[in-house]
Amino acid sequence: MKMNIAIDGPSAAGKSTIAKILAKQLQYAHLDTGAMYRCVAYGAKLLGVDEHDEDALVKMIDALDIEFRGEGSVYIKGTDVSKEIRTNDISMSASKVSAFPKVRARLVEKQREIAKDKGYILDGRDIGTVVLPDAEIKIYMVASSVARAKRRYKEYLEKQIPAVYDEIYKDIEQRDYQDSHRAVSPLKKAEDAVEIDTSDMTIDEVVNRILSIIQSV
Ligand code: C5P
Repeated sequence: MKMNIAIDGPSAAGKSTIAKILAKQLQYAHLDTGAMYRCVAYGAKLLGVDEHDEDALVKMIDALDIEFRGEGSVYIKGTDVSKEIRTNDISMSASKVSAFPKVRARLVEKQREIAKDKGYILDGRDIGTVVLPDAEIKIYMVASSVARAKRRYKEYLEKQIPAVYDEIYKDIEQRDYQDSHRAVSPLKKAEDAVEIDTSDMTIDEVVNRILSIIQSV
């Protein structure tokens, strides 16, 4: 029987990369919940909605018509925004809009609706603690700030997204602080999650570790 798998952790710990590979191997669907918060931030910029106006942001969410299509591409109102939502600016703005309780409530509702039939791997900050507290498998993935900044820098270069290493490092540290100090659903490990420090692990090693956790339940 299919389960739901929650992968939480700080930014750039490798959650999405690992979730995508696992989803392929297990024939599960992958939901990148961070991309949804990024869409809210990007949508606000696009439509001229004030990123400090919680009610206006919530109203905008349904109008964005956020869609996930093949290979992790993300669409807003039918337009592919997969690249645009990955800039540093949007990362910071996503971290800000994600602190609003009503924005979170609306997106959490969507995430639960999507994953209700199981067979999903969700990655984010609050999947194991808030979105799916009864997920069968919970992973909390961490890595040192340096390891994470190096990975993100490499990823940006590969995707041809303009990037400056020092800015990425600062952004990671600042988002860690914001994400773990906000009042609503702060980033934290669920009590029953298995923590994996990926700093010195290869992608294959992390995937195999999670597969062995899945096999043990
Ligand atoms: O995972 P990613 O870096 O793409 O997420 C962007 C931002 O969205 C995070 O910094 C975090 O503030 C927010 N987020 C969240 N809850 C989630 C996923 C992401 O608050 N479940």
